[in-house]
Amino acid sequence: MIVVCANRLYTPQEEIRDPLLFVEGGLISAVSSRAQREIPKNATVIDLGHDGPAEAILAPGFVDIHMHGGAGLDVMRAAPGELPHLNKFLTTHGVTGYFPTTVAAPLDQTCTALDRLADAIDAARNGDAVQARPLGIHLEGPFLSHKRRGVHPPECLVEPTLEIFERLWQAARGHVRMMTIAPELPGALEVIAEAARRKVCVSIGHSDAVLESARAGVHAGARHATHTFNAMRPLDHRDPGILGEVLTDPQISADIIADGIHLAPEVIQIFLQAVGLERSVLITDAMAAAGMPDGTYQLGPIQVEVKDGKCTKDGTLAGSVLTMDRAVRNVTRFSNWTLRDAVRAATLNATRAVGLTQHGQISPGAEANLVVLNPDGEVRRTIVRGHC
Ligand SMILES: [Zn+2]
Repeated sequence: MIVVCANRLYTPQEEIRDPLLFVEGGLISAVSSRAQREIPKNATVIDLGHDGPAEAILAPGFVDIHMHGGAGLDVMRAAPGELPHLNKFLTTHGVTGYFPTTVAAPLDQTCTALDRLADAIDAARNGDAVQARPLGIHLEGPFLSHKRRGVHPPECLVEPTLEIFERLWQAARGHVRMMTIAPELPGALEVIAEAARRKVCVSIGHSDAVLESARAGVHAGARHATHTFNAMRPLDHRDPGILGEVLTDPQISADIIADGIHLAPEVIQIFLQAVGLERSVLITDAMAAAGMPDGTYQLGPIQVEVKDGKCTKDGTLAGSVLTMDRAVRNVTRFSNWTLRDAVRAATLNATRAVGLTQHGQISPGAEANLVVLNPDGEVRRTIVRGHC
């Protein structure tokens, strides 16, 4: 048995002072305060409270449900042997689980990438990895609106059909856990309903939907929204559109890219106030350039220029170089949310949105995936399945 001690712990719904965290077989077996429990004599003790000048805060490892790459690697193009390099990079930024996310590409290319990612997910599940690992696949496309496609190649966008969805599902061998889709497209509602039936978190986005179409998507089974405000029909006070649904429906959660580039800080405040403490989710939408110098990088089939941390293709934003620890710190800078609130948006809210019950929280039965933070949100170390 391993016992982890720290100065504070975020479950994240609650804060515990002077916590003790018990880990057995890579899973959390108990959480309590030091005052409530003794440390068993035979336990291995990891005392984080005295390994630095600042307080050590123990939080669930971050989970990024929308991530295209980092450390020079693109998840659609990386060879199987290259992914550990990306996993290591993510781990240093406090991430313990993520959804590799596709962009619209020729279907054959997408299917090849899905097959490889499915292998990586299976290998990580069966292995004893001590790094961040892929937990499921997010299909961002190909069922996106031409009008709000961002940089997804127009020739690769297709109208939703059950046949194409089935082909992608088979290529990914059932590992699709999330799908971004524009609900106003012909055929979308049928695909949304079928994906939801297979426990995929259907997320509305890259969409020009009017309010009624967005609501119809939610009625069909969508329960989340992708990078709110970006690649969406803008909010108009007489034509609220998809944002009217995303910002007012308490049944759905929604995510944002809090890099300070995709959204103005004031818009992040509007989002956090509207969507609230329980349903706001942070994503990075990071691409291969994350953690790398400015230059030219691939985002699936798309070539992207990165200058001063801004990723663009022909002037349109194309992913980010954001890391999840910075997203968390940005939220505390841009709004009145506390570090614990921001951590919640990067952990529990994300895993609840996509139905990953063993991740994103410090509670008995969950995997012992943890990040140790300073009070300013800097990552001090990351623990995966009980391994430091
Ligand atoms: Zn994306």
